Amino acid sequence: PTLQDLATASLEEVNQLWSGLGYYSRGRRLQEGAQKVVEELGGHMPRTAETLQQLLPGVGRYTAAAIASIAFGQATGVVDGNVLRVLCRVRAIGADPSNTFVSHHLWSLAQQLVDPAQPGDFSQAAMELGATVCTPQHPLCSHCPVQSLCQAHQRVSLPGEEVFRGPSE
Ligand code: SF4
Repeated sequence: PTLQDLATASLEEVNQLWSGLGYYSRGRRLQEGAQKVVEELGGHMPRTAETLQQLLPGVGRYTAAAIASIAFGQATGVVDGNVLRVLCRVRAIGADPSNTFVSHHLWSLAQQLVDPAQPGDFSQAAMELGATVCTPQHPLCSHCPVQSLCQAHQRVSLPGEEVFRGPSE
């Protein structure tokens, strides 16, 4: 129920409660984070993407941005694999997203697009769009709420144009 409870629980208790929630390593990492907050940060959870990434073990750029926007309302863009695919298609970016420059561009695009009034909802909607509509192989463009903005869709719809799939999956 609290960070303190999680920090002081035994690993067996954590594993028991985590049962059915996926990789056990995630429960362990969550506990390590709670221990760091309780023992070294005076019980104060970092609340920005920058401090979350900087101060908590195992928290990378994506996780930090997701926590900051969803839990704490920070207007920060979030890029996971699904958002990456949506952004590449909406802006017709065919370059390799693992390239540092392209990755930097996609994060900065997400930052420009995020709704400052509802950043958590925006990010979750973008991730869900990629997971359920703008899927890797068979995107459901006819049901897509951003179809009118999508440059890939416009290219595919033009007669004689090559199908644009974005970066290879
Ligand atoms: S219109 Fe199609 S390709 Fe474009 S974002 Fe929507 S589902 Fe993806």
